[in-house]
Amino acid sequence: MYRGLDYLHFSTLLSEEEKMVMQSTRKWVEQRVVPEIADYFQRAEFPVHLVKEMGALGLLGMTIPEAHGGTGATYTAYGIAMQELERGDSAVRSFASVQSSLVMYPIYLWGNDRQKKYWLPLLARGDKIGAFGLTEAGAGSDPARMITRATQQGDTYILNGGKMWITNGTLADVSLVWAKDDQGEIRAFLVEKGTPGFSAPPIENKLSLRAGNTAELVFNDCEIPRENMLPDAAGLKHALMCLTSARFGIAWGAIGAAMACYDEALNYGKERIQFDKPIAGFQISQEKLVYMLTEITKMQFVTLQVSRLMDRGEGRYTHVSLVKRNNVYHALEIARLARDLLGANGITTDYGAIRHMTNLESVKTYEGTHDIHTLILGKDITGLAAFN
Ligand SMILES: Cc1cc2nc3c(=O)[nH]c(=O)nc-3n(C[C@H](O)[C@H](O)[C@H](O)COP(=O)(O)OP(=O)(O)OC[C@H]3O[C@@H](n4cnc5c(N)ncnc54)[C@H](O)[C@@H]3O)c2cc1C
Repeated sequence: MYRGLDYLHFSTLLSEEEKMVMQSTRKWVEQRVVPEIADYFQRAEFPVHLVKEMGALGLLGMTIPEAHGGTGATYTAYGIAMQELERGDSAVRSFASVQSSLVMYPIYLWGNDRQKKYWLPLLARGDKIGAFGLTEAGAGSDPARMITRATQQGDTYILNGGKMWITNGTLADVSLVWAKDDQGEIRAFLVEKGTPGFSAPPIENKLSLRAGNTAELVFNDCEIPRENMLPDAAGLKHALMCLTSARFGIAWGAIGAAMACYDEALNYGKERIQFDKPIAGFQISQEKLVYMLTEITKMQFVTLQVSRLMDRGEGRYTHVSLVKRNNVYHALEIARLARDLLGANGITTDYGAIRHMTNLESVKTYEGTHDIHTLILGKDITGLAAFN
């Protein structure tokens, strides 16, 4: 039933709903993303026309209950959808991760009724776009160092400061921005596009995630009504909870990028003739392909187990760190090997490998770098923090 990688019959462990999500998302990605994504990557432009289509397919806010505009899906179904989106391109999956896990999820958990009723259905349909501003120029792996301030003046907050590397930033109708209040507590604010004192210039010259929109958010005496603060979001722990949900999707997405690279390398290797035989017939090529197959298969099972734990309420952020760290690392290795197996053709965007490879460099860095996830896991198993 499934084309592509199912070496150990992984799909037999999926529910009917999860299989349907896999099939429908894969079909949409093959029809709507794959044919044109290289052009968007070349032009460094996000294919914004796909947003409403993702909304119509129920791919935005999947784990949010239907009453709030989501699809009430399991974490497993959400993960599988992210895998399929990233088979197309990491930028498309990044869009969905941010919209779902970093904007809708915190509004759903910590927003007031008005915020939920207004924003969640619009974001779920893709009628509005969201962004999540935590990172600053001087506060990346250590977001507690943030200097963006929200100073209360009666019924308003005045935002000053700036955020850096923000996915969807320029496109966003609403940015969920984390800033320190007068007490030094980190709070979340909904900043709408067009608010005076707020601008979101795009970050240019990226060689990774070129089909994604990445921006700086600048706040210059930007007045935000008090009612735009998420009343129940307080402290870095809440920002990190959003990241756990997004990192979970990234772990699955990395499998998708790796699958796309494997499929491409296998097909190319069977057709490309050198020394009078297909290059897939050489032992060294087979070693590369077998590494890819093995790592992808391992990723599928380990990540499924993390998903089932999440669905049972037993998943921990450290479980998510394990799969985010592992999967992105191996997906990047797989993309590099696929690029290598494609020879000179592999350096063009006529093939997907180098696009996935450069995209995965960002995926390795964002949402906690590989090193930071090492430290999270190191602390978990030793009880000793090695962050500083
Ligand atoms: C394309 C893209 C999109 C992004 N989207 C968003 C977004 O939507 N919202 C958002 O808020 N942020 C976003 N980010 C920011 C991202 O989360 C940060 O880049 C990331 O957290 C790393 O921070 P940094 O780049 O400042 O690197 P740094 O923190 O400066 O790290 C640089 C290097 O030092 C290492 N390092 C840091 N601390 C330690 C330590 N204690 N021990 C050992 N090594 C360490 C890191 O592992 C890394 O190798 C995005 C980034 C990119 C590239």
